[in-house]
Amino acid sequence: MPQNHFEPTLSFAENLDREDALAAFRDRFHIPKTADGADVLYFTGNSLGLQPKRTREFIEQELKDWETLGVEGHFAAKHPWMPYHELLTAPMAAVVGARPVEVVVMNSLTVNLHLLMVSFYRPAGRRNKIVIEKGAFPSDQYAVKSQLEFHRQGGAADFLIELAPRAGENCLRTEDIEQTIADHAGEIALVLLGGVNYYTGQAFEMERIAQAGHAAGAVVGFDLAHAAGNIPLDLHDWDVDFAAWCSYKYLNSGPGGIAGVFVHERHADRFDLPRFAGWWGHDQRTRFLMDDRFVPMRGAEGWQLSNPPIFQMAALRASLELFAEAGMPRLREKSLKLTGYLEFLLGAIRDDRIEVITPSDPSSRGCQLSIRVKNSDKSLFETLTKKGVVADWREPDVIRVAPVPLYNSFRDVWKFAEILRESLES
Ligand SMILES: *Cc1c(COP(=O)(O)O)cnc(C)c1O
Repeated sequence: MPQNHFEPTLSFAENLDREDALAAFRDRFHIPKTADGADVLYFTGNSLGLQPKRTREFIEQELKDWETLGVEGHFAAKHPWMPYHELLTAPMAAVVGARPVEVVVMNSLTVNLHLLMVSFYRPAGRRNKIVIEKGAFPSDQYAVKSQLEFHRQGGAADFLIELAPRAGENCLRTEDIEQTIADHAGEIALVLLGGVNYYTGQAFEMERIAQAGHAAGAVVGFDLAHAAGNIPLDLHDWDVDFAAWCSYKYLNSGPGGIAGVFVHERHADRFDLPRFAGWWGHDQRTRFLMDDRFVPMRGAEGWQLSNPPIFQMAALRASLELFAEAGMPRLREKSLKLTGYLEFLLGAIRDDRIEVITPSDPSSRGCQLSIRVKNSDKSLFETLTKKGVVADWREPDVIRVAPVPLYNSFRDVWKFAEILRESLES
């Protein structure tokens, strides 16, 4: 093995933590412990974010109001339940770069993808195809294919255009995405991509893709499950038509947390669009007249179906409060350093078996690095787990590691790299 010219040291990592203006946010989260009581090295905020310490207080407030007020809580709770979802609109809009009218929290991600496709996938004549990533997250594939079947009654595969990396490459090139869209202009009804790919960690150039889609006459939507709370987003200015995301990954709302939806202001008054309706999307001034004619609210709120889960929204508020305090620009600044440091340490291991498949250009990724370990099997990952690392393994040979700027430290990253180096040697 070649000689290391630079020996990464723990004290260097600890210095970075001392200089980190956001370091104190870690204390505002519960960090799971190993059997001997040490903090685990938690790198799965891309799967389930950690619990903010104040989440309990936010949920307990609602339990108390329900306990003491019963149904009156809809109006008399400390935060009345009737308009409760509005408390989340501004902080959520700030995270995704949207105007308040463009955002609502409701349902779960896949449900929202379906609701949005009902309105925004409108096949007509030759223009009937959907562009997705080959190997997109399974739920997205199932949702898209079942929408195709729903609209086309079979033969769904004929209406799908799947984007794949070039031979020998792991990630998509923006110019190839643009080319595919241009080549099929006139046939594409909808472009629906992830903002950040869950497997490779690649962040897409959403503004360019939205432009390419619109130039081809298509509607453009994004699944932001791995993007919301991870990378800076400017959905309004990028002119994205719609987007949906879950909040239990980087947004720390807890398992199965309530999801988010964006509908561009351009569509706020598109009452002509077909939609699957429910009473919570009805004009709130007349909702309780219980009229049989549906009158949707303006903007994203008009897509709501049901009166929403207050406990889920309370949990999300606890986390969004931290996002508002830290701010996405500062979180991104730290994230670039933290992930850059991880990349550097992986390089310093100097082991040819390790290949980072996430783009090396920081503007083309969020916090996650996907590490391919050649000729490995799951036993390496199991060794890491035994040593207190919580990361995740994706078949056949990829370990996904997501250092999250709100609660991961440079020390966490250093320890992980040390444990990986030791485990590869043994
Ligand atoms: C996490 C994730 C999902 C999960 O969908 P749910 O409806 O929340 O279960 C869907 N799509 C993508 C891209 C994801 O990363």
